[in-house]
Amino acid sequence: MEGLLTRCRPLATRSPQFCQGLPPRYHHCAPGKRKRLVLSRMFQPQNLREDQVLSLEGRSGELTCKSQQLMLRVGLIHPASPGCYHLLPYSVRALEKLVQVIDQEMQAIGGQKVNMPSLSPAELWRATGRWNLMGKELLRLRDRHGKDYCLGPTHEEAITALVASQKTLSYKQLPFLLYQVTRKFRDEPRPRFGLLRGREFYMKDMYTFDASADAARETYSLVCEAYGRLFDRLGLHCVKVQADVGSIGGTMSHEFQLPMAVGEDRFAMCSSCSFSANMETLDLSQNNCPACQEPLTETRGIEVGHTFYLGTKYSSVFNARFTNERGEPSLAEMGCYGLGVTRILAAAIEMFSTEDCVRWPGLLAPYQVCLVPPKKGSKEAAATELAEFLYDQITEAVPQLRGELLLDDRTHLTIGNRLKDANMLGYPFVIVAGKRALEDPAQFEVRCQNTEEVLFLSREGVLDLLSRVQVV
Ligand code: ATP
Ligand code: MG
Repeated sequence: MEGLLTRCRPLATRSPQFCQGLPPRYHHCAPGKRKRLVLSRMFQPQNLREDQVLSLEGRSGELTCKSQQLMLRVGLIHPASPGCYHLLPYSVRALEKLVQVIDQEMQAIGGQKVNMPSLSPAELWRATGRWNLMGKELLRLRDRHGKDYCLGPTHEEAITALVASQKTLSYKQLPFLLYQVTRKFRDEPRPRFGLLRGREFYMKDMYTFDASADAARETYSLVCEAYGRLFDRLGLHCVKVQADVGSIGGTMSHEFQLPMAVGEDRFAMCSSCSFSANMETLDLSQNNCPACQEPLTETRGIEVGHTFYLGTKYSSVFNARFTNERGEPSLAEMGCYGLGVTRILAAAIEMFSTEDCVRWPGLLAPYQVCLVPPKKGSKEAAATELAEFLYDQITEAVPQLRGELLLDDRTHLTIGNRLKDANMLGYPFVIVAGKRALEDPAQFEVRCQNTEEVLFLSREGVLDLLSRVQVV
């Protein structure tokens, strides 16, 4: 972080008029005492032209969705190879916040975080038959000893072997809800739409181990409810639909679909009851709801999460057992639960942004506030120090916004130009110290970008507003 911070200028040049009401320590802020995050030091390629974005990807035909275009244009991602992206600093901040929200929700239901190797030995996959079943999607490699591996596309085998290695598990310890947030690798036939369908992407995958089928069903509901809360907190209105079990297997499965035209999935929703199902699972001749016979409507969606009830499909292969109430060895009843972490990030941008401007779920915004001081040499330049003082006061009075506040110190640019950039990057709050900051008392222009409100607030008003901002 050190490199992004700059030292505070001494405020000795401040005219007495603007020092009125400021605590004395701000009149002569000791250099180096206080540091500020400044935009000029960010590794943040900005505002690429359409043709530059196209040449970045090198596959113009595939550049077809809003989130991909925007994320490339404003410097959130940079292509590395087909379906693989560098995540640039703003995206990493958003992703880390998303992971924090996920951690909160998973740990609230008893989830314990683990981290398993991406390099996954072939014998695990041969044991379940998936070494062949997964076909070309599995990225395979061989080490110097001639041993085969794949780069993990999912981790049912690995986690079940891990739990099976614990020989003294008792029913009293169950359920175990083990999860991780790691990179997954799938040689997708058509990686596209940026982070929505990559070949290397982040997934949260949870695996649960229960002592009985009934208990496992309860765990299944618990995790689904946690997913519901997670998406609610992000403002993403997902539909939980019945789904196909695919190559993962098991007996019951649901997808969390975010209804959007760009989505590659099709699902049917009943107009009168809560029935909904992925079209893959439905009898295609069926126009009416199998539950209540009312008409079904078809919608496109982005699959952001997927849950499976696995039973003993994997525990029986690896012999993942525990001692039951009668003192006998018994196979664990399993579930697995995925969330597409990088996909959720892109899907949220897809959902909230306009064609030209990124918008984030409030909790995920990489920085909550951007503060824009006046242009150097302009009529309002005298408000520069007020802006800097406001920056320092926010960091002091609103502790949850520490590290969330950027100063757009590119004062060779007009306020208008910097506002354009701020609008594109979607900081929830943009504060301008312009003409009205010279009034007594100073008035700051506050743009609440998610609601499009523009407010003029005193310093106290700004602090009051920002103290109510929710952060992860
Ligand atoms: P899809 O049908 O979209 O290919 P899937 O059903 O194969 O996904 P799962 O095995 O259920 O995927 O993986 C769990 C979650 O990981 C998915 O719900 C999705 O959100 C995410 N995911 C899967 N594949 C990708 C990918 N190629 N890029 C980004 N996220 C992905
Ligand atoms: Mg799926």
